[in-house]
Amino acid sequence: MPDMTDNPRREGDVYKTVVAGGHRFSLRYGYYEDFERNRGEPVVIYPDLLGAPMYSTDGFRLVTAIQDVCDSFEARGAVEEDACCCDCRFYRNSRSCIDICTCELNREK
Ligand code: SF4
Repeated sequence: MPDMTDNPRREGDVYKTVVAGGHRFSLRYGYYEDFERNRGEPVVIYPDLLGAPMYSTDGFRLVTAIQDVCDSFEARGAVEEDACCCDCRFYRNSRSCIDICTCELNREK
């Protein structure tokens, strides 16, 4: 098994590629804010799908698993205080880090 200390993650490295709703996302390591550079290793950077909405080819909104919930949130089960989209029953696949929100209220108008 490879030792991560031999191969530390570096800013710009690809974490994984995700295909969702007809879009391809290359998730890379990086920093959300400049001041975070002094705090350690880079983290996985997710697209800001709240600030810059994207939709599947059939009009469903794309969301990240860690995105803040919207007013249509409905818990999939017991949820901690800081619920995210992956905790919502409208998030199609809770194992994916980016997926479709199946809520009709969030569909592209
Ligand atoms: S999955 Fe959709 S409905 Fe559920 S909280 Fe996220 S954006 Fe809202």
